[in-house]
Amino acid sequence: MANRRRPRHLVVVLGDQLNLDAAAFDGFDATQDLVWMAEVAEESTHVWSHQARIALFLSAMRHFRQRAEAAGYRVDYRQLEDAENRGSLAAELAAACQRLRPELLIVTEPGDYRVQEALRATAQEAGLPLEIRSDRHFLCTKAEFADHAQSRKQLRMEFFYRELRQRTSTLMEEGKPLGGQWNFDAENRSAFGKAGPGQVPPPVRFSPDAVTKDVLRLVAQRFADHPGRLSHFDWPVTPEEAEAALQDFLDNRLPRFGQYQDAMWTAEPWLYHSRLSAALNLKLLDPRRVIQQAEARLEDGVPLAAVEGFIRQILGWREYVRGIYWHFMPEYLERNALEATQPLPAFYWTGETEINCLRHALGQTLEYGYAHHIQRLMVTGLFALLLGVRPQAVHEWYLAVYLDAVEWVELPNTLGMSQYADGGVMASKPYVASGSYIHRMSNYCQGCRFKPTERTGPTACPFTTLYWDFLRRHEHRLRSNPRMTMQLKNLARIPKMEQAAVAEAAQRLREQYA
Ligand code: FAD
Ligand code: SF4
Repeated sequence: MANRRRPRHLVVVLGDQLNLDAAAFDGFDATQDLVWMAEVAEESTHVWSHQARIALFLSAMRHFRQRAEAAGYRVDYRQLEDAENRGSLAAELAAACQRLRPELLIVTEPGDYRVQEALRATAQEAGLPLEIRSDRHFLCTKAEFADHAQSRKQLRMEFFYRELRQRTSTLMEEGKPLGGQWNFDAENRSAFGKAGPGQVPPPVRFSPDAVTKDVLRLVAQRFADHPGRLSHFDWPVTPEEAEAALQDFLDNRLPRFGQYQDAMWTAEPWLYHSRLSAALNLKLLDPRRVIQQAEARLEDGVPLAAVEGFIRQILGWREYVRGIYWHFMPEYLERNALEATQPLPAFYWTGETEINCLRHALGQTLEYGYAHHIQRLMVTGLFALLLGVRPQAVHEWYLAVYLDAVEWVELPNTLGMSQYADGGVMASKPYVASGSYIHRMSNYCQGCRFKPTERTGPTACPFTTLYWDFLRRHEHRLRSNPRMTMQLKNLARIPKMEQAAVAEAAQRLREQYA
């Protein structure tokens, strides 16, 4: 490459931008332009990343390089194990700019504010113009979200979602929501009952090919001290595999997705979930196609409640959290509305705890790099919220341990929805519950030495103790929130003496997990 003449455009492709139809490629001329990619250790170490997360990104990037070269693109690619690898994106790009002297740098909008700023600074230092192009993968642009936000005192996903349904004519009939209602929550969100989930169709798995095997070896050697395991690695790393995963989900699990989307069960990590988040976030899969394909299943008799429940996650939540991220960054990252200061318990990194629900949710996370939404929100996230963990520590953990973690999607979910650290931008009230919720939605309590209904005493459920203590500690903040009235009324029914005992028990837990 060094002998070729100076490229016109250097198209920077980041590890979560693996779609050849991205705006960065518009006008690409293979005779003059060059694609630039780099695997750098910093992206795996700035948070202590799960080994499978590192492997997923590296394998998907290497497969993308193959696709791009097969399509005739010239690619300047830095591998992690290259002796002269400088370890950070900024250092690698600066060196590439010096070596190649392109006229212009082009990139699709990064998914991470930190990376965007690093690219800007690097381009400026190199004295090169940087063109950041809109990310067409998403259905709502940053500017459209800003318009939506501008006209409102309060942001709520539901209204944003309805606007997008109308704008994209998704699940609409003559200007009205299909089936006469916007959501079917009442029909969704069942538990399995004592008998459990029974036989759930297992998801399609993808055996590692030669490229992935190389990456797995590299990660095992280079990141041996990182959390998580590689032995189950079976994730889609190409668009073809992502498409097969989509079809497998639509054929086998979509019909029961809505009904059981909140249920949890031991040794059943996937249940009726799609496992598509990582493929979507790496842009191996187009959300429009996912939505259209799900909607088309109505014709095969898949219930509207299931289809709507699934589409709401992609067209609603996924687009909404991206809007929130870019609307409020960079100050969003520092928010701590509940002034939480506790460190993250060390067992989050090992899964070694006697708290059974946490042991299962954490164990599964470390094993696979995956937990479904309710495990993230109402087990691992809930415990951190109730304990009073500093939200930035919780954020760093979530960004590290999930395969699908990219900051634009992880941060609002963690800091906002789960930890209420944004003071109510994402959620209209804190998602707090006692151990009874976990008892209702799972079988975790059956194997636990604690009792979900007990708030004090030797077998008190830590969630239940901390739940009542949370309400007590934050009563003054929550009193003005009408959605908290019922929970605070229940708190008021607890005699003051018992509230004091709860406070003491909660304090002991905080000391135990500090
Ligand atoms: P399914 O349950 O099958 O849902 C279908 C799709 O909808 C997902 O693939 C995902 O693309 C989308 N989706 C569902 N819920 C959300 C949501 N709340 N926000 C955005 N998209 C959503 N999702 C990520 O992709 N990356 C993250 O780093 C991430 N961090 C999270 C942290 C916390 C604390 C919480 C509570 C949620 C987080 N989520 C994150 C959202 C959600 O938990 C995952 O998208 C989902 O569990 C992925 O599994 P799945 O593909 O089987 O999803
Ligand atoms: Fe979790 Fe409490 Fe149930 Fe034990 S009793 S599994 S700690 S909710």
